[in-house]
Amino acid sequence: MNSAERYFAAAAERGELGHAFLLEGEDAQLLESTARHAAQRILCEKGTACGVCESCRAALSGNHPDIITVTHEKPDTLSVGEIRAQLVEDIEIRPYRTERKIYIVPDAGKMNPQAQNAILKTLEEPPVYGLIFLLADNRNRFLPTVLSRLVTLRCEEDDPAEEETGAGAERLLMLLRHLRAADAAELAHAAADLKADGMAAEEVLEMMTYLLRDLLVIKAEANAALHVPAAEDLLAGWAKTLSWPETNESWSALQEAGAKLKANGNADVTIELFLLRLRELLRKGTNSD
Ligand SMILES: [Zn+2]
Repeated sequence: MNSAERYFAAAAERGELGHAFLLEGEDAQLLESTARHAAQRILCEKGTACGVCESCRAALSGNHPDIITVTHEKPDTLSVGEIRAQLVEDIEIRPYRTERKIYIVPDAGKMNPQAQNAILKTLEEPPVYGLIFLLADNRNRFLPTVLSRLVTLRCEEDDPAEEETGAGAERLLMLLRHLRAADAAELAHAAADLKADGMAAEEVLEMMTYLLRDLLVIKAEANAALHVPAAEDLLAGWAKTLSWPETNESWSALQEAGAKLKANGNADVTIELFLLRLRELLRKGTNSD
């Protein structure tokens, strides 16, 4: 996940998502795959880009009626006619299958000033179901009036802020790998150790959310991409150990920890208690499939 994808995952979870985004970056393919994945997640029946539901399958096949990719004929220009026909007018028609209608505009920096002016009103007053992703290598290609209506997200591979590959994430994975054998003193220090490696309690719980989601994917043998592929073997082990009720209990533990943190509970203690609960679940794991 890059930072833009994390943004959409968090926004979708909170149910707070804007109407118009600029995904900015040099890698056009990465921009497009990020927008497509975000669109899939937003329209997913489970809200997770599960890869299994009808909406996800349509999105993955490129045939989702509510995900529209705007194209242009001339390689260097996205004309006002193209923007009008494919976006400005089309967006007035309600979604076909889902609650939203999502437009992806690759090469949006090639919109000439007329095209940008044509899209302006839609950006100012989009229909409630409308969602627009403009993809471009550089935000400076847009008129200030257009830019001011967009939430700009930088989109890069190997995002340095990437938690999954940061020192804190490495430490957390290491801890989880021997969690069953970890002693209470180690778990009491865990939050402080993770913080020293740049991972605050909120980020620990965020990464745990990705991991437990991956655990569900593995346990359900669903055909979906993992958020943290580096932890696949670890989670496959957990999936063997934990029964379904125990797997669900690990989720409850995570949600309770999140609620405590939001209520300003002691962050270190919250992480410690969560890890203790997870350890107990793994120690007593009763799965027998
Ligand atoms: Zn889905």
